[in-house]
Amino acid sequence: MNSPRHADMLVDIDTEEHQALRIEIVRMLYESHTRSLIVSIIVAATLVYVESGNIQSSILWGWSLIFIFIYLARYFLALTYHRQQNRDQSAAAWLTRFRIATTSCGLAWGLAGYYFYQGSTEIAHQAFIIFVLAGVSGGAIITYAIDATTAKLFAGGLYLPSLPSLLLYGDRLSFAMATMLSIYIIYVSLSGSAIAKKLRENILMRIAANKDEEKIKRLAERQKLPVDLTPMGVIEWDSNFRIIAWNSSAEHIFQYPVAEAIQMHVNDIIPVREQSKVLALMGDLFQNGTTTSYQNENLRKDGNEIYCEWIYTPLKDKDDKVIGLATLVQDITEAKKNQDEIHYLAYYDLLTTLPNRRLLMDRMERAIISSTRSNLHGAILFIDLDNFKNLNDLYGHQIGDLLLAQVASRLKVALREEDTISRFGGDEFVVIIEKLSDKLIEAIDATQTIVNKILIEINKVFKLEQHQHRTSGSIGICMFQGKTLTINEIFKRADIAMFQAKKSGRNGMKFFNESLLPEIEWRASLANDLQGAPFNEELIPYYQIQVNDQHQIIGAELLLRWIHPKHGLISPTEFIPIAEKSNIINAIGLSVLRHACHQIKAWQSDESTQNLRLSVNISARHFGDENFVEQIKTVLSDANCPPHLLRLELTESLMQKNVDDLAHKMHLLKDLGVSLSLDDFGTGYSSLSVLRRFPLDELKIDRSFIINMLNNKSDAVIVEMIITIGKNLGMEVIAEGIETAEQEAFLHDAGCLNYQGFRFGRPVPLDAFQRQVELTALQKKSYIL
Ligand code: C2E
Ligand code: MG
Ligand code: MG
Repeated sequence: MNSPRHADMLVDIDTEEHQALRIEIVRMLYESHTRSLIVSIIVAATLVYVESGNIQSSILWGWSLIFIFIYLARYFLALTYHRQQNRDQSAAAWLTRFRIATTSCGLAWGLAGYYFYQGSTEIAHQAFIIFVLAGVSGGAIITYAIDATTAKLFAGGLYLPSLPSLLLYGDRLSFAMATMLSIYIIYVSLSGSAIAKKLRENILMRIAANKDEEKIKRLAERQKLPVDLTPMGVIEWDSNFRIIAWNSSAEHIFQYPVAEAIQMHVNDIIPVREQSKVLALMGDLFQNGTTTSYQNENLRKDGNEIYCEWIYTPLKDKDDKVIGLATLVQDITEAKKNQDEIHYLAYYDLLTTLPNRRLLMDRMERAIISSTRSNLHGAILFIDLDNFKNLNDLYGHQIGDLLLAQVASRLKVALREEDTISRFGGDEFVVIIEKLSDKLIEAIDATQTIVNKILIEINKVFKLEQHQHRTSGSIGICMFQGKTLTINEIFKRADIAMFQAKKSGRNGMKFFNESLLPEIEWRASLANDLQGAPFNEELIPYYQIQVNDQHQIIGAELLLRWIHPKHGLISPTEFIPIAEKSNIINAIGLSVLRHACHQIKAWQSDESTQNLRLSVNISARHFGDENFVEQIKTVLSDANCPPHLLRLELTESLMQKNVDDLAHKMHLLKDLGVSLSLDDFGTGYSSLSVLRRFPLDELKIDRSFIINMLNNKSDAVIVEMIITIGKNLGMEVIAEGIETAEQEAFLHDAGCLNYQGFRFGRPVPLDAFQRQVELTALQKKSYIL
């Protein structure tokens, strides 16, 4: 359609092109006007001058006036055209006007031919006139060739009046001149139209090119728009790592306006420490030409550092050679900050700023891999602060937290930078020491030295606000080399060794010893068996009687026994701590509670048992379950159990938790109607102020005080104090572990009126207990004696 082939057929080409071509032709015609005016005036003046003696002056003057008039008219037409603002819109009209004007000009020259030839008698003058006409017509045809009609009209105007005068002149020479002039005009016209054709083709080609260029420009602008609007910075680099394109988002990110950014080097937007890395990466991309993404710190114009994500795409030429890089960049400083924060929260302990358990595991994995490679021994230390709970109870958690943070700092002092120190939870710290030696003896020696340093640091006085505090640590150690042990095994061994350290008097270290292995296995197999141990078949509730000072039975404590199918009877002191390490304790606790409620309900039908109160031991872990209160409520209502006969024994270890939450939970339980007892009281040094905030019904003096109170003055004082505290706080006080009449008498004198102990009965199965109830009722009197 746009082919120049159609250039001479204006009707065939599309209107837009037609218009454009016409506009162009009209423009060219009018532009040629001044040139042709000047030439015409010169030729006309010369003609008039040459013919002045030869032709009548009236003819000369007449023609000159006609000539001036016509050419002036055309001059003004051209002037108007050039002054017109929107002349291109009426190009067709301007063309018509030009053609009329040009025809008139042709006619003017034609008249010259007619009158001057007729009026002249001299051959030379006649030849001159023909020469002038041929020259003028040739020049005009060539000048107007771009529009064949204009050229023809001019030629026609010139030819028509002059030709008859030549032909009618009557001699052979005039006839020959007329013929020659015709041939000349025809020849020039043909040549002119060939030139015109080429010209039009060129014009059309230029129009088409302009149109394409316009399209490309529009397209580029359209493309530039999304590039500018995208929140991603779009930057192009040349092979010298200099910027050659920079969109407005890049401007926004780096604060450099485009004019400044162009030709900047990549180093201008990278902090010095990152430069070599980024240059190496970009250099690499020029080599292998693959797309890649990268994150690094960048510099803004104001000097602030930002964190950016870059996607690099190599730009290749047709020979697949990388000639530049296109990059998309976005500022991810905020996201990175959040990510770092999340990472910190996930992997670090906020209180001590040490790695937490999760990061420790990660480091441990790496330590094992590195030890496998180097064959060097490493050591894991389990550090537990002795009597940490006491500090918490005495001064509160804030002070306890201070100690933990200071211990963390002291550990850092005692250890090398490359050692991992982590807070494992509570008052437990775990340390990984790597690259000790390839000889076990040397590695153990080195570890011993390090652990001694740690113990010395921990033994130094701590200043916790206004309190001076001394503490100690028990450290369990497990050596490791390569992959001989799994992480779990290593940790388990260090844990066992730590328990051994505690057992053998605290403030010391214990290396894990193979002889401890059976204990680990024993514990592991118990944990496994406990999972499937059925309640009432293997886990049997035993009842231990509780009496008052009249030896009347006031109730019983439920104490579990595990009758293991293989190992026989296992004490709760052995299996309860194992159950407490996992959620098994919750299931066991729930079964005991269900059993207790059903039993209390069952006792309601008998006069001798209907007032018996049943105490149930509640593990701290189970109590901490968010559904605990709800569970008690359900269990009570399922069994239709009178709640006041259910007593929950809580231990002081619970008191380590948030006091407000704890008090709230206890109040909820009290609202259900159950009563609460604080078991093993005295062993945990509960702070008295805290004690006042709990709605407790009973304090239970721990057996350890009862055993020694008769021959140890301080234990006796403690017992007396507990009784006084209980009374003052309006609580009942019960003593456990009473074996002798003397113990009972001492307690009685001190004001403790409720008792539990072998003196009154050992823990026994239900039927035995029930027989005991009957018997006790009968023997009541003999006890009193
Ligand atoms: P506890 O709650 O302090 O229970 C008292 C412990 O002292 C019982 O040990 C009991 O048999 C023992 N005892 C009572 N009077 C005497 C005495 O005169 N002389 C001696 N030598 N011992 C006496 P037991 O049954 O071995 O229970 C140990 C601990 O196991 C309990 O201490 C309690 O903390 C825990 N436990 C027992 N059953 C359960 C249970 O069902 N759930 C939970 N969470 N813990 C339980
Ligand atoms: Mg108890
Ligand atoms: Mg107890």
